[in-house]
Amino acid sequence: MKMSRFHAPTLRDAPRDAELPSHKLLIRAGFIRQVTAGVYNLLPLGLRTVRKIAAIVRDEMDSAGAQEVLMPTVQPAELWEESGRWKKYGPELLRFTDRKGNDGCLGPTHEEVIVDLVRRDVRSYKQLPLNLYQIQGKFRDEIRPRGGLMRGREFMMKDAYSFDVDHDAARASYQSMYDAYFKIFARCGLDFRPVEADAGNIGGSMTHEFQVLADTGEDAIVSCSECDYAANVEMAELPAPAGDIGPAGDGAPQRVDTPGKKTVAEVTGFLGVGADRLLKTLIVVAASGEGDDETTEVYAAILRGDRELNILKVKRALGAHTVELADDATVVEVTGAPVGYAGPVGLSVPVLIDPEAARVVDAVCGANAADQHFIGVQLGRDFDPKRIIDLRMAEGGDPCPRCQGTLRAFRGIEVGHVFLLGTDYSEPMGCTFLDRNGKTAPMVMGCYGIGVTRIMAAAIEQRHDDKGIKWPVSLAPFECAVLSLGKPGDVVAQAAEEIYEGLRSAGVETLFDDRKERAGVKFADAELIGFPVVVVLGKRGLDSGQVEVKIRSDGSKYDVAIDGIVDFVTHQLGELAAR
Ligand code: ATP
Ligand code: MG
Repeated sequence: MKMSRFHAPTLRDAPRDAELPSHKLLIRAGFIRQVTAGVYNLLPLGLRTVRKIAAIVRDEMDSAGAQEVLMPTVQPAELWEESGRWKKYGPELLRFTDRKGNDGCLGPTHEEVIVDLVRRDVRSYKQLPLNLYQIQGKFRDEIRPRGGLMRGREFMMKDAYSFDVDHDAARASYQSMYDAYFKIFARCGLDFRPVEADAGNIGGSMTHEFQVLADTGEDAIVSCSECDYAANVEMAELPAPAGDIGPAGDGAPQRVDTPGKKTVAEVTGFLGVGADRLLKTLIVVAASGEGDDETTEVYAAILRGDRELNILKVKRALGAHTVELADDATVVEVTGAPVGYAGPVGLSVPVLIDPEAARVVDAVCGANAADQHFIGVQLGRDFDPKRIIDLRMAEGGDPCPRCQGTLRAFRGIEVGHVFLLGTDYSEPMGCTFLDRNGKTAPMVMGCYGIGVTRIMAAAIEQRHDDKGIKWPVSLAPFECAVLSLGKPGDVVAQAAEEIYEGLRSAGVETLFDDRKERAGVKFADAELIGFPVVVVLGKRGLDSGQVEVKIRSDGSKYDVAIDGIVDFVTHQLGELAAR
């Protein structure tokens, strides 16, 4: 491809609202253009990279025995009513009504459609296992689209769905997808970790996220320094702290004035105690049941002042479908005090306390009265929790729940997600088969997503510098660029074109920068776009029979004889791909 005819509009500046490096670079390097919030055009460069990602995904999915299909974007409401998600899904589901008055939605995911597809044609255990996947546009009306392709409203996903005769077989399907994901993300040149994750509202029992390590990632993850335990902090369990709870002494807690002191730092600073002595008391509202049977209950969740609440742990412990921090009015109603003075002593709502906080002897807590706290508080003597359960968010430095190691904290970008769904969809939707004994049973399912367009952004978060992108060979829109420093039509340009033709016929994906631009512009664009290998030919080089070759990833440069250039470039690409 010749750059003079190629639509790669590079920009000096990024749009002002772009914060993530990948967002800025994808726009500046001419890979994407925004249409509206969270919705993008892929330009030729962007599409080439997306196709490379898709090709890797297809290759590994096919090798794992999955078969490609293509389902529609538009989905009828009836299917979502059958699964029960039409009501449950919330505002990320973009719903509409067609001219005949039928309700429908743009597919954010395809469990309903695939279950309908499979239940029609698959009736016998002989047709199982079955794994179908697609690479297709999804629409989710994300509340905060962010970072260009990182969190779009419309984005490209690979979604696969496995159907098996029983749980053991479903686990085997899950494992084979897990293994395929390892290969896919490794081939995409990503530094990633599979982590234990929360099943969220897709349901299911076992789930892992594949997280690309990047400081700009939205997810917090922890992984053990010794064993292979790794989890999203939302999920990370913590071992019970050692040591007994101190004996409850005689006496009673003392009420002290703490005028205007509300935050942990203010209260502990004022009273001169460590934050680990404070019983941070958060009022939460848990909702369970559905429709007319929905009930809400208020609880107090207590942690040490130096710890953060993991609200998903509360949700799981209570079996609630949502748990939220109470609004100010509820806090005032429940504690009888303004926000900032809650404590467990004399509180009417049930108390959940984290095991670490439960071990604090001689504690400080809010007195459920404005401008007052208690000191000298003891669990058992001064208050009785309903439950002592792990409530806190894991952090770097915490002990590993599986071994003697220590957890380290990372930020991550979720590029893939595997779920063992069980019969959560097949049962309500009647996706059944006749087993070996002629008995009808629901199929056991798994579902497996990969953010194809998000991978493009995640790869850039890991590989860029202040000049631009540094593509791994496997994802680069072109493996090599040839820059002619001559004028169009002159001897230098002609010789450069011959090099370009030579590389092309050797199967190297090459872009030829034949534009009538200054050398500086060509160098800057090549670095911005991020070709792994750049070949430069100028007048002096032509005279001495040499080209300069630059490797983008490490900045190394080589002078190479023109007649050996094809071998040299192919060799370099091989080396880079193997790294
Ligand atoms: P997230 O927590 O990031 O919202 P999710 O749990 O909603 O992700 P899944 O439903 O598991 O995501 O979707 C499968 C994959 O699709 C994710 O692992 C992610 O890589 C990708 N993905 C999800 N939402 C988006 C989005 N808004 N933009 C781009 N990719 C996305
Ligand atoms: Mg989401």
